[in-house]
Amino acid sequence: MLTIRSLISYLKLKFKHHEVYFEGQCLQCGNCCRHIYLFENSGKIIKSRRQFNKLLKKHPDHDRFEIVAKDNGGLVFKCNWLTEEDTCKDHENRLQLCRNYPSKVMYYTNFTTGEYCGYRLKTGASFSKVLTKECKKAEELNENAD
Ligand code: SF4
Ligand code: SF4
Repeated sequence: MLTIRSLISYLKLKFKHHEVYFEGQCLQCGNCCRHIYLFENSGKIIKSRRQFNKLLKKHPDHDRFEIVAKDNGGLVFKCNWLTEEDTCKDHENRLQLCRNYPSKVMYYTNFTTGEYCGYRLKTGASFSKVLTKECKKAEELNENAD
């Protein structure tokens, strides 16, 4: 859920002209399908079976998720669509939340990718911005040389 703290983090980045980005790549380990937090529409993390049942009423397609643990964050789910080969049973029809992973929003909500994941959440000047700046510098040098 976005909070005052997330807003401050967002404004700090804006002020520095920095942005959130991911470095790395998917190692296809399937761990993000074994360690899942789910959220209510309000953005609150699911912490109880009752909240999960409510979510199921609105989104019956979430019945692929099974509660496996509870930690400080909330309930931890695994997905029953994950095959023994660590692939998705129906990748084409995976949920939007699967398509969105990993999401830059994690930075503002104190979540991050697990140690096992090939992606690392970073902040800084984006590659495209650095590239644009360098191209502009090169253009200016060329113009001055003419
Ligand atoms: S945990 Fe990270 S590396 Fe592993 S499958 Fe998910 S996105 Fe890919
Ligand atoms: S639907 Fe597929 S991609 Fe989504 S959590 Fe399940 S196994 Fe992973």
